[in-house]
Amino acid sequence: MAFDFDLFVIGAGSGGVRAARIASSHGARVAVAEEYRVGGTCVIRGCVPKKLLVYGSHFAEDLADAKRFGWNTKGATFDWPTLRDNVASEVDRLEGLYGQTLGNAKVEIFRQRAVIAGPNLIRLADGTEVSAANILIATGAWPSIPDIPGAEYGITSNEVFHLDKLPKRAVIAGAGYIANEFAGIFNELGVEVTLVTRGDKMLRSYDQEIVDKLVGISREKGIDIRFNFKCPAIRKQTDGSLLVESGDGSDVEADVVLFAIGRIPKTMNLGLEAVGVELDKDGAVIVDEYNRTNVSGIYAVGDVTNRVQLTPVAIREGHAFADTVFGNNPRTIDYGAIPTAVFSNPPIAGVGMTEEEARAQLSDVRVYKSDFRAMKNVLADRNERALYKMIVDGATDKVVGLHLIGPDSAEILQAAAIAVKAGLTKQAFDDTVALHPSMAEELVLMK
Ligand code: NDP
Repeated sequence: MAFDFDLFVIGAGSGGVRAARIASSHGARVAVAEEYRVGGTCVIRGCVPKKLLVYGSHFAEDLADAKRFGWNTKGATFDWPTLRDNVASEVDRLEGLYGQTLGNAKVEIFRQRAVIAGPNLIRLADGTEVSAANILIATGAWPSIPDIPGAEYGITSNEVFHLDKLPKRAVIAGAGYIANEFAGIFNELGVEVTLVTRGDKMLRSYDQEIVDKLVGISREKGIDIRFNFKCPAIRKQTDGSLLVESGDGSDVEADVVLFAIGRIPKTMNLGLEAVGVELDKDGAVIVDEYNRTNVSGIYAVGDVTNRVQLTPVAIREGHAFADTVFGNNPRTIDYGAIPTAVFSNPPIAGVGMTEEEARAQLSDVRVYKSDFRAMKNVLADRNERALYKMIVDGATDKVVGLHLIGPDSAEILQAAAIAVKAGLTKQAFDDTVALHPSMAEELVLMK
């Protein structure tokens, strides 16, 4: 049977764009549908604009520190619309490049919503139906909103990049990646930040000693962190401000409430039920290691599968899918030792096992630590320390985990993660001469 396309991709985010481009390079006739903007969460309202806000906000501390380095920065002011609009322009530019890349790859783009109408059949929002031999679901995830009275007064990471003005007070609900990143951004931009979380832990997947350090530093910077805060309701007050209830009388007033309580796979109303694609209890598409759903010819990659919600992982999955199905090169992804970072202030970065995980899984664990003040912070008279932790399997001397908090830790970790991924030993780190003076040299000087 002749189909309109060999591959129809639903969602032009990181995973979908890579899959479309590579499939096309293998000779497939490819189309992609995108209901919002080409580029997906990472480019349009995630990693990219967030990182630019992190840079923009960090000037607050850099300018404060500059005095000790001889600079007179008196009179420096901050203008939110300038930062916001410049970031938005950069996002526009990148969106254009993504569209161009797809065009150059001869991928047809439908800028509208697409749903699955039957096996090998796609229905577009304008009613057009197209057929495809293979369908890839790459619709990503969507910010979760709590089911509480007043939730409609809150915003999510979808809206936070477009605020008309900076709030005086912000409550951030959640204590994961987005919560800690925006707590840092807002705090540096002078917003009074209260971070409230339902449990007694933040950033659960990270080494908890590193996280404790972030909690201490964040509090020192003036971020009010409240654990075990249940948030049963949000009320709008007569002056227009919001009251975030705690249930125990310690309510917090805010001008903006940002929900950062996880992201749910975007599988609603996609027609998946009609063709019998299996979803898990969180609504994620269930796939095997080759990104195959239970329905022949339907695949899924990226956040919609809820395996690892990270852009570089979605990109790899999309690429492996295209090589497997159209490149005659069946490939799976190695999910081991994925380096990750939280662009909090200061940032956290980690790869491999945390100390907690290593102690639960290995019989002999050695932990090396370096707790130091970065040279720049010493001269700046900024009493903020970094902490590096190396987790070693005592039986093999292999470094099984590296966890950092401190300036530029994400930049430092990427290279060090190669060593952990390659299974290098603590001895190999010790054998490497320190690059002095740097913060990264602490990695080869741990005793
Ligand atoms: P996270 O999964 O990082 O954190 C979710 C937070 O919300 C946790 O503190 C969790 O608490 C809390 N939470 C979950 N459900 C509820 C609920 N019903 N009520 C109240 N609190 C709740 O989510 P984010 O939204 O920050 O980010 C989503 C994903 O996006 C991340 O997991 C990450 O994969 C990706 N991301 C990656 C970034 C990066 O690489 N730098 C940046 C931003 C996002 P508890 O611990 O108690 O469950």
